[in-house]
Amino acid sequence: MVRGRCECSLIKLKVTDSIKSLSYCHCGQCRRLHGAAYASWVRIDTKSMHILAGGNHLKIYASSNELNRYFCANCGSSIMCRPKVDETRSWLALGILDGVFDLPEGEHMFFDSRPAWDNTEYKCTKWTGFPESWRGYAD
Ligand SMILES: [Zn+2]
Ligand SMILES: [Zn+2]
Repeated sequence: MVRGRCECSLIKLKVTDSIKSLSYCHCGQCRRLHGAAYASWVRIDTKSMHILAGGNHLKIYASSNELNRYFCANCGSSIMCRPKVDETRSWLALGILDGVFDLPEGEHMFFDSRPAWDNTEYKCTKWTGFPESWRGYAD
């Protein structure tokens, strides 16, 4: 079991099943919304995620017609994103998870969207857009 929380700890959650995939997203939306070079997302089955506290502080931002992004309304932590077409799957922001847990091999997505200042060498598979593991949930 994995636990996570937002920065201000109003929102706490746990995940009771395994993490299905790990994606490093370099798209402009993730970059701006995380204020970072890229976002790290872990896919889980939504039914395995349990909000332990602060569910009323989750704020939704529809970043596209396909995707809702969830934030802490108090501290602004990025919590997760979830495709509108299939809410049975969620992508949690890896950075909110605490402790030690197993992770599948990662992959980079929207790799060509990196800004010029992001010239870091990255290992693992690089996709121009959505990888296979996101197929059917976003275009
Ligand atoms: Zn918070
Ligand atoms: Zn992204």
